[in-house]
Amino acid sequence: MVITMLSNATEEEIRHVVERIEECGYQAHIIRGAERTVIGAVGSNGRRHQLEALRAASGVEKVVPIMQPFKLVSREVKPHRTIVEVGGVAIGTDEVTIIAGPCSVESREQLFETALAVKAAGATMLRGGAYKPRTSPYDFQGLGIDALQLLKEARDETGLPVVTEVMSTEDVSVVAEYADMLQVGARNMQNFALLRRLATTPRPILLKRGPSATIKEWLLAAEYLLAGGNPNVVLCERGIKTFETETRNTLDLAAVALVKELSHLPVIVDPSHGTGRRSLIAAVSRAAVAVGADGLIIEVHPCPERALSDGPQSLDLCGFAGLMRGLDQPMRRVAGAACAV
Ligand code: PEP
Ligand code: MN
Repeated sequence: MVITMLSNATEEEIRHVVERIEECGYQAHIIRGAERTVIGAVGSNGRRHQLEALRAASGVEKVVPIMQPFKLVSREVKPHRTIVEVGGVAIGTDEVTIIAGPCSVESREQLFETALAVKAAGATMLRGGAYKPRTSPYDFQGLGIDALQLLKEARDETGLPVVTEVMSTEDVSVVAEYADMLQVGARNMQNFALLRRLATTPRPILLKRGPSATIKEWLLAAEYLLAGGNPNVVLCERGIKTFETETRNTLDLAAVALVKELSHLPVIVDPSHGTGRRSLIAAVSRAAVAVGADGLIIEVHPCPERALSDGPQSLDLCGFAGLMRGLDQPMRRVAGAACAV
């Protein structure tokens, strides 16, 4: 942390700041310039939030953190990449994990038809919503426990581990009993009570980025899970709110590359919610893999026009198989890129 004093700060004010820095558990280093004095607070075991409060001390111009506020999720603390194991599938390896399935579980037929088709096309995990966070209370809210039961049966039938959303602390135990991985939806990314509760489940967590969350807020939400005792966290970029209205959200692929620099946690991409448009999903999936995503989560429905949620962004079974074939194809060549060594 660097504390810059006002140009007219008195010696007494400088002394007071130095004392407070030491009281907070850091060492103070004073740098006296021609114009003003800057004080560096150095150390790793101090009380950072108390130091930040020095913004209010007299004679202080600004307090600038030089380290990120998150610790356990950061690569500074753990340089090697984390691999998260979900029911036998490893996320965060050289292989891209493909999670596919309907937005909502609607019926046994719909779920099984989708699960068998996505497996045949190469998906390695199954998604499906049982508890749905809908903007309107009049929209389909999910089949709840009946959907959890169907997801478990589909997992037993196909061998695909299942991820499904949990929306409230009361549902954590039951969802953890049926699912292999628990999803924190975008709207709940900063539901701190839910994050604290999920930190104590033995299940891995898929943490979606909030629609208006900064990268720092997203990583701090993950920090809640790690700090509370759950190291098995996969991050998911699913698009953020911007002024653009032609796509449902604006998929922030630069954030995927940046979060992989900042954190050791695996990062996957949701091109379905990230675009809201079926026609864009294959192209954006290839882009996500190109920037380093560890996986994709894609909405698939046997008949999207009949879907009870998110039909316009759902691929049909053929569309998903086509996307999978496209992912296997080499990238376009760049003219003149060949370089002799
Ligand atoms: C979903 O996965 O169906 C979903 C509701 O996602 P998000 O929380 O990203 O909107
Ligand atoms: Mn959806």
